[in-house]
Formats: sequence, C-alpha cells, structure tokens
Amino acid sequence: MVLKNGTYKIVTFGCQMNLADSGVLAAILNAHGYRAVETEQDAEVIILNTCSVRQKAEDRVFGRLGELLAIKRRNGVKIAVVGCMAQRMGDEILERAPYVDFVLGTDRLYELPGYLANGEPIPSIHTDFGYEHIDGIVPERDSPYSAFVTISRGCDNFCTYCIVPYVRGRERSYPVDRIVGQVRDFVADGVLEVTLLGQNVNSYRDGDSDFADLLKAVASQTDIRRIRFMTSHPKDLSDKLIEVLATEPKMMTHFHLPLQSGSDRILQKMGRGYTFAHYHDRVRTLREVVPDISITTDLIVGFPSETEEEFRMTLDAVREIRYDSSFMFRYSVREGTAAARLIDDVPEPEKIRRLTELITLQKTVSYEKNQEEVGLVREVLVDGVSRRDPSVVKGKTEGNKTLLFKAGPEYIGTIQKVNVITADSWTLHGEPVK
Ligand code: SF4
Repeated sequence: MVLKNGTYKIVTFGCQMNLADSGVLAAILNAHGYRAVETEQDAEVIILNTCSVRQKAEDRVFGRLGELLAIKRRNGVKIAVVGCMAQRMGDEILERAPYVDFVLGTDRLYELPGYLANGEPIPSIHTDFGYEHIDGIVPERDSPYSAFVTISRGCDNFCTYCIVPYVRGRERSYPVDRIVGQVRDFVADGVLEVTLLGQNVNSYRDGDSDFADLLKAVASQTDIRRIRFMTSHPKDLSDKLIEVLATEPKMMTHFHLPLQSGSDRILQKMGRGYTFAHYHDRVRTLREVVPDISITTDLIVGFPSETEEEFRMTLDAVREIRYDSSFMFRYSVREGTAAARLIDDVPEPEKIRRLTELITLQKTVSYEKNQEEVGLVREVLVDGVSRRDPSVVKGKTEGNKTLLFKAGPEYIGTIQKVNVITADSWTLHGEPVK
C-alpha cells in the first residue's frame, strides 16, 4: 500500500443501491488493510460514491469536490470519484476537477484498492461494465441489525426520463445460491432484517427461478427474521409474488411501487409500460391478498407537456390509492435520456407549485393512514435511540413506518411488540406490549 496509514472516508450520495455498493467497497478496502475514519480531514483517501439521477445530485458532488481541494492542497489527500457520475461523465469530471486522482464507474469501484496499491500518478478512468468478483465479501453496514443485499445490477427498462440504464448497464441478476449465502453470512454477523435490492426486483431471474422463488429460498434456507425488497416495477408485479407476501411470515408488509404519474398519456411518454388502470388493479389485488400492506410510491410532476389536468390525475391517484408515503420530485432533464429530446416546457415555478400541492396532499393522506395504525400492535426492529430524546428508542414496523417508544438502550437490536398510541404524518408513537 502506498498510503502511510491506509485511512479512508467514503461519502455516499443517492440511493440504497449506492449505500450497498459503498458497504461492499468498505469491506474490500478493510480486507486490504485500509481503515475507515470519521472525518475527511483524517483520511488519506476520500471516496465520493456519486449519484446521477438528478442534476442537483451532481451539482452537490461538484460542490463537495470544490471543498475537498483545500484539504488536498493541505495534505495531498487522494480523491476518488466513483459510481454513477463517474460512469456518466468520466473525462468531464477531470476537466472540472483535475485534482481528482481516480474515476471509477459503477462496476469498477471495487478495483480501487488495486489502483491505490499501484500509486498511479495520473488519474485513471475505468467505466467498463461487468466487474463482479465480490463473492465472499460481507459488506460493511451502518446498522448491525439490518443490511442491504444487492440481487441484481442495471436495468433494461429505459424509462425515458431515467439515466440508470446508461450508468448502471443492462440488467444482471446474481445467482440464488450466492444471495442465500450472503444472507446467511449476514445472519451469522447478527443481522435480523435484509432488504433485497435491485432497480427492478420483479424482473429478477436466475435460470428457472424468478423473484418470488428467490424470496422463498431466502426465507426457507436462512435464519433471517425479516425480509424487505426494493424497487418493484408495476408492469412486472406477478400474482405469484403477491402470494409469497401473503404466505411467508418473514416477509414484511411494505410494498414500494413507483407510479410516477396518474395520467396514461404521461405514463406512455415516460415509457413506463402500464396504464393507471393496470397499476390500480395490481394495488387492489395486493390489498385483497395482504390487507395490512403499506404501499409507498415515487411521483414526478412537470414531465414535458404535462398539463394541469394531467397533474390533477396524479393528485386523484394519490387520493384514490391512499399511499402511506411517497417520494415526490419535479422533473429534471438528464442529458442522454430519451426525454431530454422533449421540450422541458413546464416552467420551473409551475413545477414547484405542483410539487408543493402534491406534497401537501400526501402529508394529509399519510396522516390519515397513520391514524389507522393507532390502537394496533406492531412489531418493531429497534435500531437506535431517538435523536431528540435519549430515553426513547426507535425502529421500523412491518410496514416500514418509524415507531418511537420510551425504553432503555437494552431494547436496541431486539424485535418488540408495541402498541401504537399516537401518530403524526411521519411517525408513530407507542408503548411496548407488557
Ligand atoms: S425501471 Fe425505469 S425508472 Fe427504474 S431504474 Fe429502470 S429505467 Fe430507471
């Protein structure tokens, strides 16, 4: 190793997929003798694991790179930009920040220890797809009790607004055995809950095994207590998968099902491959078969040519489906996507107005949905202490809602039955069942 102490700091931007990748990279660095430190000032190498999903996310990374220049001048720290922005922009990163030492794309970030060992004096750009030699690595993670398990990489859907298929490549599923093995490793390391991750878990395939088969294998062949997954595409949501949710007790009752728009014309322009009627039908079936399911979604307002009436269809969809919560965004152009060729004709103030109205509506619906939880008993995986009150612990319910209750730190890392006493739009409050 060329570095003196081998200290590193990973800063992760973006989604759970990036968090999972950062966990694997940290484990690989540790296996090579490197050591994570808390602050960038103490690190000999700073790694920015980046997100390209919105312009804002990329701007934040360039802002951070500007700040890192001062540290670089002071102590010569090595800087690596890895992940989606590295994949998408490559050379442009080095033009705008020539002091960056390494640029490694979404499938190449795991090669960083090799480049550090070589001490290459010039910036390296590596963005080929297909590097996956990470078997036998137990990823580092933020929580001792829950972990992300990547089951597939890339996406074949090419929704017209989305950069993911370009920066993460075509869809590749990991074998069932390997995923089961990774979950077993996590269980041996104290993990109680796993979240299986893919851009579109519903199109997972390993030989004859589909995603429902994978869930059954993870549930039956490991001692994991709770299983979640993310993200699902509505066009691929099968009855077989819904059946597993209904029959497998380890499955948590939460389904994240991105709708994006309530208008069929906009859905078609987005290339989503379903109509609102199809989507609504899937939700009805989900709720019939798994009545307790909590449903969350992603919504975009201000897609090119979206009219006020079409925006109102999205509001109507939120009222009709009654999501437990939503991730809501205003459309932002991503160069290189099909939608970038459309005229971005909804003015920014109008996008902001629509988004504000949508958020206000969702807040009301979330409040109503959470009131329905009051009086119920929920099972919570307690994962920490409340930031505001050290005498209160927090955790997630089966439906992925945050639940707070008064208890000591000895509850952390246990699964507790809790009576829900009160609720607001974002949080449930309760007391443990005696
Ligand atoms: S399904 Fe669509 S939105 Fe999701 S990652 Fe693939 S292309 Fe992007």
